[in-house]
Amino acid sequence: MYLKSLELHGFKSFPNRTVLTFERGATVIVGPNGSGKSNISDAMRWVLGELSSRNIRGTKMEDVIFGGTDDRRPMGFAEVSVTFDNTDPVNRLDSEFDEVTVTRRYYRTGESEYLINKEAKRLRDIHMLFMNTGVGREGYSIIGQGKVAEIVSKKSDERRSIFEEAAGISKYRYRKEEAERKLKGVTENLERINDIRVEIEGQVATLEKDAEKARRGLEIFERKKRADVSLWLFDTKQIREDIDEAERLWVLSKNELEIIKQVLVDLEAQSNNLYEKSQANKLKSADLLEAIRETTEKIHNLESTLRNAETEFKHSAELIAGCRTRIAEIEKSEASVQLTKSGYTDKGEIVDKRLEELSDERFDVLTEQQSISGKINQ
Ligand code: ATP
Repeated sequence: MYLKSLELHGFKSFPNRTVLTFERGATVIVGPNGSGKSNISDAMRWVLGELSSRNIRGTKMEDVIFGGTDDRRPMGFAEVSVTFDNTDPVNRLDSEFDEVTVTRRYYRTGESEYLINKEAKRLRDIHMLFMNTGVGREGYSIIGQGKVAEIVSKKSDERRSIFEEAAGISKYRYRKEEAERKLKGVTENLERINDIRVEIEGQVATLEKDAEKARRGLEIFERKKRADVSLWLFDTKQIREDIDEAERLWVLSKNELEIIKQVLVDLEAQSNNLYEKSQANKLKSADLLEAIRETTEKIHNLESTLRNAETEFKHSAELIAGCRTRIAEIEKSEASVQLTKSGYTDKGEIVDKRLEELSDERFDVLTEQQSISGKINQ
């Protein structure tokens, strides 16, 4: 298993995508103080799943993202990929691939992603992949500044874990711890089962009674089943009879249906006839209504003419009555004139003249009376 390359993008002082290729043999990175050499080993540690920001010389995880310079804006994420050659048949990573690339991505929002050969994975998968190789988070292959002194001064337990990793037994230690944890779980389960057994033993008498009840229940259930079968047989016979009866009724209904269909056809023919008649009657009725309307109009006209004639007749009768009164007055005055004629000889001429006038008037009135009588007769 050989380290092939390390790719940084947005990690600490590497805003541009930067690929470091490691050839067989030794690769040395040199540069002035503060030029970013240690950032490369931080990137290596980080991509292999480092969770402590202190171990990569930061105070919080966000510090791994390029924070910007005077002429460059800060970035929103940091990404590091490390690639191993996995063709060595002996010292292989536990992967089917001949080349294994592990990628870690971290966003300013706090989300992070882990990928193995571009496939999303859990942090646990990364740890498992490198366990026992000396490369992982707990590995000894990255020795930082002052780390040797730290290893020597560590407590014996902590020191042991470093040597275990180097000796390739940390995987087994991990498995042992896993097995012990599982064993502890099983022991606890056994204890719980024992508690339940003790509790159940106290319930045995009650359960026996319940079992007796259940046995009786089963017996009753068996009897009920037999009764159900008998009932079913009875029901089947009954149902067959019902089917026969239903078939007989069906034949009857079918005949009735045929008759009804025939009646329906006749009724439809009648209905068509009646419809035609009704249409003809409608036309006649419209003609009659028109005739009635015309006659009503004529009656109204005649009534109006009659009312006018009655008014005229009444008026003429009043005129005739007036004329008769006038004639009577003239005749009366003529008689009185005749009587006083002898006494008024000196006024004879005047009287004669007046008499003539009155005769004329009388003649006119008589003429008018005749004309009115003629009109009335007419
Ligand atoms: P030394 O020889 O002193 O150990 P070095 O070459 O190892 O130095 P590093 O410590 O790796 O350098 O890099 C430090 C540089 O990285 C500093 O200039 C610092 O400003 C820069 N740096 C660290 N984190 C970030 C970040 N998040 N964004 C931008 N620049 C960063």
